[in-house]
Amino acid sequence: MRLGIMGGTFDPVHLGHLVTAEEALVQFNLDRVVFMPTGQPARKTDRAVTSAEHRYLMTVIATASNPDFDVSRMEIDRPGLTYTVDTMLALREQYGPQSELFFITGADAVWDIATWKDAERFRGLCTFIAATRPGYDLEAAFVEYAEELAALDIEFIEVPALAISSTDIRERVSQRRPIRYLTPESVAGYIHKYGLYREAF
Ligand code: ATP
Ligand code: MG
Repeated sequence: MRLGIMGGTFDPVHLGHLVTAEEALVQFNLDRVVFMPTGQPARKTDRAVTSAEHRYLMTVIATASNPDFDVSRMEIDRPGLTYTVDTMLALREQYGPQSELFFITGADAVWDIATWKDAERFRGLCTFIAATRPGYDLEAAFVEYAEELAALDIEFIEVPALAISSTDIRERVSQRRPIRYLTPESVAGYIHKYGLYREAF
């Protein structure tokens, strides 16, 4: 079993996440990709994150038609702040020593890995797949954090460039600007149905 984990806040999920997961699936010959919405993200304590249930459901809706994608409740059901290393250890336990774990991340998040809690424990636990993302220089981040990242197993992939972010989508909704074609139609419908992101933030 080669298992990809696509971690994120997914507030909301968008086409950038989906394209990245699909590219990782194919390029690394993964059996499936599990989207893992964070519970209370340890690094995003500065703004009110949308309820885990909304974020989880939007991710389910967005991935429902892809037989190779799943969504896990593991992090949102775990109390307290979310740390990725805890998740990977739990998945290792669940899937057994034969399984191979791949954590998929965008260019902006990868340099962060080195500074995560217990980063050295990732060694031998999973391979990181670092994807290109418009506006972020993947190679520069690696040069700068070379020492911290050297101990980890990191692979690179190039994904079709989509300059989409959840921040921009939230901003657009609050300003009554369109989000069509940035996120699946079903997710846009969900956002409007529940009046998410309408308040300026
Ligand atoms: P926010 O603006 O709220 O931070 P985001 O768009 O960055 O949202 P996250 O949920 O923070 O989305 O990201 C989850 C993962 O997906 C991260 O590893 C991030 O780097 C990656 N990612 C997000 N958007 C893209 C994109 N357009 N292309 C490639 N990777 C992306
Ligand atoms: Mg982000």
